[in-house]
Amino acid sequence: MKELVEFRVIMRYAHLLFRDDEGTNLGDSVKVVRIDKNDPRFNAIGELQKKALENNHLFYSYYECKRYYTEAEITNAKWFQIFQTRHFEPAGEECGTIYDESSACPICKSGAKQLSPLKLRRSSIPKADMAVTIAWGDETVVSERFVNLVKDNSLKGITFEPVFSRGQRCQKLNYYQIQPQFYLDFSNKISFGIDPFHFSGECSNGDNIPDILSEAYIRSNPVLEDLDFFASRQTVGGRVGLIRPSHLLFCSNRMMRLIKENGLKGFRFEIAHIVDE
Ligand SMILES: [Zn+2]
Repeated sequence: MKELVEFRVIMRYAHLLFRDDEGTNLGDSVKVVRIDKNDPRFNAIGELQKKALENNHLFYSYYECKRYYTEAEITNAKWFQIFQTRHFEPAGEECGTIYDESSACPICKSGAKQLSPLKLRRSSIPKADMAVTIAWGDETVVSERFVNLVKDNSLKGITFEPVFSRGQRCQKLNYYQIQPQFYLDFSNKISFGIDPFHFSGECSNGDNIPDILSEAYIRSNPVLEDLDFFASRQTVGGRVGLIRPSHLLFCSNRMMRLIKENGLKGFRFEIAHIVDE
């Protein structure tokens, strides 16, 4: 596995670390660079961001860890984390989905229970087999094609709830909300933080982390023997405006292959590790 961290560096400051011909420019304002964590400039990015923040500026506006695998690594891996590659709005809450905020953790605001079926605007849902609203949370929907793939192949660990259109007509849509049957714990081996430089920030109730910085590590559990799908018990991400913390989604090697072989759209996979601690 090769790991690079992608940063969107504010162009005005990019020359402090990067050559003009490095990375790719997004218009005139942002330079996108991918950098190895062992590159001496990696920590310099953290230092520059810290200095910029002290002056109400940003050195970079966004980061994302990118991981690249060999065919052999993919063949041999038993579990994968599923990433939704399609996002859409409006969010469920904007379409009349009801949440019980009083059931959320008072510290991190994770765990607000969804009291109604998920309601969405039909025309805004991407033509893909998996997509998530801009609120994240548990607002991931899948196509009928995905549901049939799960049923036809007897994939275990996942059920589906109907999704409805917003407004008075409230019609059942051809999309379904994922309902995992099992929620499993992260292992202590997972590294997490608010950005790639500050490795901290767990909710003291142990129910939420701000962001995951390593591949996913899940504590071994006997139920895994007979599953193709599960979600993390802890959520990831903060509650900001409409945005809700999310349970991460995982699938077996078999399920990943079926999704790829059948050409389903809206998925990206990274290897997840099951460990004893
Ligand atoms: Zn919490």
